Amino acid sequence: MNSVIAPDKPKSINLLDFDRKSLEAFFVEIGEKAFRATQLMKWIYQEGVDDFDEMTNFSKSLRTYLKEHCTLSPPEVVVEQVATDGTCKWVLQTACGNRIETVFIPEESRGTLCVSSQIGCALACTFCSTAQQGFNRNLSTSEIVGQLYFAQKRLGLENRITNVVMMGMGEPLLNFDNVVRAMRLMMDDFAYGLSKRRVTISTSGIVPAMYRLTQECDVSVAVSLHAVNDQLRDELVPINKKYPLKELLEACRDNVKLAPRRRITFEYVMLAGINDSVEDARAMIKLLKTVPSKINLIPFNPFPNSRYECSSAEVIDRFRAVLHNAGMVTTIRRTRGEDIDAACGQLVGRVADKTRRHLKLAMKGSERAA
Ligand code: SAH
Repeated sequence: MNSVIAPDKPKSINLLDFDRKSLEAFFVEIGEKAFRATQLMKWIYQEGVDDFDEMTNFSKSLRTYLKEHCTLSPPEVVVEQVATDGTCKWVLQTACGNRIETVFIPEESRGTLCVSSQIGCALACTFCSTAQQGFNRNLSTSEIVGQLYFAQKRLGLENRITNVVMMGMGEPLLNFDNVVRAMRLMMDDFAYGLSKRRVTISTSGIVPAMYRLTQECDVSVAVSLHAVNDQLRDELVPINKKYPLKELLEACRDNVKLAPRRRITFEYVMLAGINDSVEDARAMIKLLKTVPSKINLIPFNPFPNSRYECSSAEVIDRFRAVLHNAGMVTTIRRTRGEDIDAACGQLVGRVADKTRRHLKLAMKGSERAA
């Protein structure tokens, strides 16, 4: 066999890092037929088998080779919490000791997994707790698809995860290749076989990567809008300074061209007195007039030291009514898993704060106190 593995690294290949195409290339490289890839994918993703010896349609020599050189290693679970509403949060540890969070949200007709794409986040959105810890690194494909692999095994194959949202920690479009490879596995008929309507990537609006995504990977797109003018969006979602609303909406229009009934979901966090007025709602109607869209209003979830408050239920209802009366499809996201800090924007993990933002804030506080 023509080995692709350095002799001093006997178990260096994590097979969860490969989508179908790269797995086929791997098998060809070790002198096997390409169709071994789909056989392996069925074993690991559909049958939940992780012992190469149980893969009975592989020859003994192939099984031995895989055992000697390959692993199936998702991140390791360190904490499991179950909320009173059934939401589960897992803290997972990567091989290098960093922690990420994955949340499962059970509903009557579906089960949704909220998946992280990075350790920390570089984007500094002012209402998000992940932003406070700064950026550590991108997750690998195995660490991303490994969250689904782990969660599906943990829940049992009879409790199928039906939807995946890339709405955990991190900005998925700043980790393009690994996220796309993982999403391809989620949608591959030989792996999880989820439909493209049930795999959603959520972005703060990395415009060039949005165009690339439209070309390379057909999934549902959600955009974190949060403000309807550049001045406020520059403040709440600072990447807006680089990719302002006009460019963002152009990229959205380009994406929906893919299919006639396609819509972009716009997420809008409700911040009391900041972005929740009737004027804001009216401006949103005008702004999104030319983009086939759905609006998802998200009640703001507070976290320690967060500077905002959530709009009241009445204000959120009023906002929704204005949009609804203008014919816009508008939902209010039900907050889930609050009692275990598993709601949107509350995922923190535990990483070294490379920005030292915490420290700076603490120092400012002590200056004021002095
Ligand atoms: N970086 C990506 C995905 C991660 S955030 C993005 O920006 O879309 C997933 C969603 O949760 C985003 O819409 C984000 O704006 C929202 N969110 C972040 N912090 C929140 C908070 N404290 N309360 C409610 N929603 C929040």
